[in-house]
Amino acid sequence: MIILMKKNATQEHVDRVVAVLKEHGLGANVSPGTQTTVVGILGDKAKLGGLDIRLMDGVEDCVPIMHSYKLASRDMCPEGRKVEVGGEVFGGKKLMVIGGPCAVENEESIMKSALGVKAAGATMLRGGAYKPRTSPYSFQGMEVEGLKLLRKAGDATGLKVVSEIVAQDQLEDAAKYVDMIQIGARNMQNFRLLKEVGKSGIPVILKRGIANTIEEWLDAAEYIMSEGNYNVVLCERGIRTFETATRNTLDVGAVPVVKERSSLPIIIDPSHAAGKAQYVPALAFAGIAAGADGLIVEVHYNAKAAISDAAQQLSLEAFADLLQKVKQMAPVFGRDV
Ligand code: PEP
Ligand code: MN
Repeated sequence: MIILMKKNATQEHVDRVVAVLKEHGLGANVSPGTQTTVVGILGDKAKLGGLDIRLMDGVEDCVPIMHSYKLASRDMCPEGRKVEVGGEVFGGKKLMVIGGPCAVENEESIMKSALGVKAAGATMLRGGAYKPRTSPYSFQGMEVEGLKLLRKAGDATGLKVVSEIVAQDQLEDAAKYVDMIQIGARNMQNFRLLKEVGKSGIPVILKRGIANTIEEWLDAAEYIMSEGNYNVVLCERGIRTFETATRNTLDVGAVPVVKERSSLPIIIDPSHAAGKAQYVPALAFAGIAAGADGLIVEVHYNAKAAISDAAQQLSLEAFADLLQKVKQMAPVFGRDV
């Protein structure tokens, strides 16, 4: 349920509503907007008993949220949420471009890739330390040593860093070394992990599951938010379809749907969708044109020799070229880079 305040409602009116909710054992999510302030009721509204909030001063109306997700819904925060990571903001005018290798492989490799993506103009650095590989015999990542190297490369370049965790027990180390956590496609519905990340408060990229609907994805975001962490950025990375020419099928249509239904920022991962480096730019441009708030792209200083996902990683030159073009197209969509 959300409470819509009147256009001329004062701060006192809003504070009174929040206080009354609190007196009844309920929380409030206040979203000031240019038109009207929205107060989301957190908890079971049955606790209000016979109290009719609509009769309170400054209240225009009370409206139920029809989705199973509440905090993640657009209704709860019509202006859209912003997620800040060390001064960089997801969901604002500026497009966020995260670049970096699939995996941290060794110090030389992550350093060279980091310097390259920084020089190209990336806003953040990525690099996997815990790799969720399809086969148990594939490279599983450098784990905590990888996190330390990623941090080192981030500090050397001034880039904030993001890395995936695949289990709760990795959260403590991740909190020490990264600025943002990634929950990968394979763990989108790992609800225990989502809850722990929710409790941590650390900004998180939540990728869409390989075979999950948008509704399931937003419910997964709700798991994180319901634990108090509103710093969630969604990431469309392609879904499994009958098509095999690309690794996954980028669901570009998910971007406007998410923008309509949810207040959360959304970025595109064209790399895991394409599976092949030569298709990555086209998907990246499509994502931006559809309204995405940014990109997360796999980039390797020596892409052909990469230990994982070699075929889809961009060279530093290709990444720089991609960013140049994104800079040119951004103003058409009211954005900058
Ligand atoms: C990744 O970004 O390294 C990754 C494994 O992506 P996804 O979870 O989308 O497959
Ligand atoms: Mn990868």
